[in-house]
Amino acid sequence: MDYIEPHAHMISRTTDDYQQMALTGCVALSEPAFWAGWDRQSADSFEDYFRQLTEFEPTRAAQFGIQHYTWLCLNPKEGENRDMARQVLARIPKFLQRPNVLGIGEIGLNRNTLREMETLRDHIALALEHGSMILIHTPHLEDKYKGTKLIIRTLQSFQNLDPRRVMIDHAEEHTIEMIRDNGFRCGLTLYPNTKVSLARAADIIEMHSAEGIYVNSACDWGFSVPVAIPQFILEMRRRKHSEATIRKVVYENPIAFFSQASNFYLSRACESVPGNVKELAYVD
Ligand SMILES: [Zn+2]
Repeated sequence: MDYIEPHAHMISRTTDDYQQMALTGCVALSEPAFWAGWDRQSADSFEDYFRQLTEFEPTRAAQFGIQHYTWLCLNPKEGENRDMARQVLARIPKFLQRPNVLGIGEIGLNRNTLREMETLRDHIALALEHGSMILIHTPHLEDKYKGTKLIIRTLQSFQNLDPRRVMIDHAEEHTIEMIRDNGFRCGLTLYPNTKVSLARAADIIEMHSAEGIYVNSACDWGFSVPVAIPQFILEMRRRKHSEATIRKVVYENPIAFFSQASNFYLSRACESVPGNVKELAYVD
């Protein structure tokens, strides 16, 4: 089954991973800007990183027939450094018009501090100023519930923000309702240890429906599985879910969300998918 990987940090993965993703049906992916594993020393490092995400990584993905999209920001962990945040934010606009940029992300909170909140607000303002979509990272473990609540409140304090243009990621059982009830799109991250297991993701969809839900691997330099989505497809099939339900979660929902960005299209001809107007236009 064709699928779209909405959250993968491919700069820290090998070409073998790209190959496995292509072989298992991945046709497109989106790569949010994230924490490098260490705190960067200057805004110049981010500028190089943004070039990597918008110039080099798309060409690497293309070798495997995978379309590469990306999101730009200074991540929540380094958002604590307000000086650096201001300098990085000033450099983002010149990259926003590049052909594979979908918007601002992954922004959000890490330890729910005041400085992180200020950096989050700056990023949201920047996204709205440029009409960009937003990808949100929510904090881990004990900070998740409070952090998700704070993030939603912060997003809602911007009056012209359309929640359908915001995906709130790393949702879990206790945060999914507040995300969807407030109109936001919702991401489940399939991780081998932390976050959501394959079984928990399938349980969540059985309890809450597939409406507005996306699954992703969030694969990076840590323990993570770049082919977590095809593994999830197997888990759903094992539970006898219809191909239509599975396809909605792994393909149609991401297309419906990404298609809100004017530069998103799927080059591979597929049958008509609701919301994928640009795909049809392109095939024409
Ligand atoms: Zn991530």
